[in-house]
Amino acid sequence: MDSAHVESDLVNILFTEEQIQAKIAEMARKIEADYDGEELLVVGVLKGAVMVMADMARALNRHVEMDWMAVSSYGSGTKSSGVVRILKDLDTDIQGRHVLIVDEIIDTGLTLSWLVSNLASRGPKSVAIATLLRKPDAVAMPVDVKYVGWDIPNEFVVGYGLDHNEKYRNMRDIGTLAPHVYS
Ligand code: 5GP
Ligand code: MG
Ligand code: MG
Repeated sequence: MDSAHVESDLVNILFTEEQIQAKIAEMARKIEADYDGEELLVVGVLKGAVMVMADMARALNRHVEMDWMAVSSYGSGTKSSGVVRILKDLDTDIQGRHVLIVDEIIDTGLTLSWLVSNLASRGPKSVAIATLLRKPDAVAMPVDVKYVGWDIPNEFVVGYGLDHNEKYRNMRDIGTLAPHVYS
């Protein structure tokens, strides 16, 4: 952890920058194989997926188009509300296209399940999900997750795009925040 994070004593490192990059490369090889010969639009979910999108897109040894959506589901708390609202929609018409949603974490999956059915209603050729992290509650998700980096226990994690009250997103590693900070 770098010294810029003055609250670093509150964080236990779960995955280092090196481990994250290796995992993303591994996921990228699968994605390249699965979409070989097809056009692909990768969609990042703001703001948490910014880091994983930037690294995943560069790890992919092929052309991709990139677009972004912003949805709200969490307030400043740590549990999903299930209420999803589009804050920023895609710029791209996805009709007839292969769409891969890239996200940093799935907890309950409420946000992504909603997003998948929303995008599916626009007539794409396919919609799939790639997530770096997945928590245990996601087993109840009605939609399939095609690419998962790591399954992690039910702890609140920060770093590499993941925030607590908008902080820690710029940490290079992923760590767990001491519970007394957020509970
Ligand atoms: P879900 O709808 O899957 O319950 O929630 C997804 C969103 O909740 C994620 O995109 C992320 O913004 C937030 N979230 C879920 N778990 C965590 C976590 O452990 N740490 C942080 N920082 N955000 C989380
Ligand atoms: Mg996210
Ligand atoms: Mg957040």
